[in-house]
Amino acid sequence: RQATYAALRDVEPFTRCGTRINVMMNAGLRDDVSALQLTGADGIGLFRTEFQFLVSATLPQRERQQRLYRDVLDAAGDKPVVFRTVDIGGDKAVPYLSSEALDREENPAMGWRALRLSLEREGLLKAQARALLEAAAGRRLNVMFPMVSEPWEFDAAKAVFETQADFLRSRRKLLPEEIRYGAMLEVPALAEVLELIAPRLSFLSVGTNDLTQFLFAADRANPKLAERYDWLSPAILRFLDRVARGVVGYPIEIGVCGEMGGRRLEALALLGIGYRRLSITPASVGPIKELVRKIDLAEISAAMKEWLASPPPDMRAALTGWAQEHDI
Ligand code: PEP
Ligand code: MG
Repeated sequence: RQATYAALRDVEPFTRCGTRINVMMNAGLRDDVSALQLTGADGIGLFRTEFQFLVSATLPQRERQQRLYRDVLDAAGDKPVVFRTVDIGGDKAVPYLSSEALDREENPAMGWRALRLSLEREGLLKAQARALLEAAAGRRLNVMFPMVSEPWEFDAAKAVFETQADFLRSRRKLLPEEIRYGAMLEVPALAEVLELIAPRLSFLSVGTNDLTQFLFAADRANPKLAERYDWLSPAILRFLDRVARGVVGYPIEIGVCGEMGGRRLEALALLGIGYRRLSITPASVGPIKELVRKIDLAEISAAMKEWLASPPPDMRAALTGWAQEHDI
């Protein structure tokens, strides 16, 4: 695998028509960060901070969190890192946070997880905010909140960070030179109020793993449903298209950080509907950079526009045929 990474490391993801696409990678552990250099990814578009919580027998204390975040920033060097606050609960249960509320959930994926849990266990979010702010002292900090369903949740989470930043400032501690806040769009409800949240964000990252599960009401962890709904279905693509168009005019970056973006035809479709930032599994970075170089955005945009207006009977077959015709 390392040899494959290396061969594509220096491929610059410019499309055939000359647009630079941002190809970033997802990570969750300190060791994952070495893939940044190996793959030549543009940065870490999703750092899943809950991994540290999931592999620990006890709640990771603030100092331990801070050490990890600092190591990750050091290893990333000039490349940006987007830290997502913990997404625990749901399918990512941690024994030391077990509570009656978590234990009796019938639908944990739609339950008390991610930002919902962080906002109630405020001590948890405060500690994470302090750890991130201290780790990024003198550098840029990108913070992303998971499972934002309504704008107030974003505001409340950001306020926790700002209170911690004020505290550090009052102690004359060095702060990050810039703090950028973003949200994940993985709960469909947020898409209906985009214009309310967009002005408050620096970036929006679409989490297609959870989004698909909620759009189709299909448990992402249930193997019986794994093959049932296609990421290339008109329902998903139209939804993603609407989201991309919904933020036009706001000075925010929009991207996709779900697994969808790491697959060839899916990435092609995403580029065709206007996404220019993908954060994907490290093994996909090289292949997707290579794909990008073969694409003319005007051509794929025109095809997607037609197919979204009037979906072909099999979108996957249509995209496969199109890719073959265009030597992609
Ligand atoms: C997603 O839901 O698409 C996502 C990127 O986050 P996770 O897979 O960690 O839930
Ligand atoms: Mg998710």
